Amino acid sequence: MNNCPICHKRIVTPTGPANAKVLVIGDKPDFEEIQTGIPFSGKTGTVLKTEMGRAGLQLQMMRQMTLWQHAVPGKKDPNRANCRDTHMQATIKEMTGREIVLLCGAESSAMFELPPISSISSLIVESDYFPPGVIVIASSSPGMAVSARHGELRLALARLKEVYEEVVA
Ligand SMILES: [Zn+2]
Repeated sequence: MNNCPICHKRIVTPTGPANAKVLVIGDKPDFEEIQTGIPFSGKTGTVLKTEMGRAGLQLQMMRQMTLWQHAVPGKKDPNRANCRDTHMQATIKEMTGREIVLLCGAESSAMFELPPISSISSLIVESDYFPPGVIVIASSSPGMAVSARHGELRLALARLKEVYEEVVA
């Protein structure tokens, strides 16, 4: 079990094959992930796995993490900025050496200074923060699909499949 080096809260630890070519980044952990410490272990993960299955993809073959590795601290929390920087560095480290990254959710697009997620979902995006050589596909949060908005997630996963077949397979 790991803890945040800044605030010492228990963190959601990256999981999945260490050498996976694809990394899936959720923007923040849900209640279930915070309880288990495992990314995509709750409802969001169930939807993501189902939708990936439909697209012919397997989440368990991919590295998985959340960008915020614990609950997002409140705006007035004095640790907020340091936790954020630490988690972002951990994320960039996980991205390094991967071929494809699926970057999900509004928090992620904000942290990487990308346009709002609704305007970039399913597109390949660029940011000075990304390590060189990695293809990053933006996706709306799979959590949104829990409340029956599957369309954007499906488009992003279709893009992931397309790029995966081009680059990896
Ligand atoms: Zn922290």
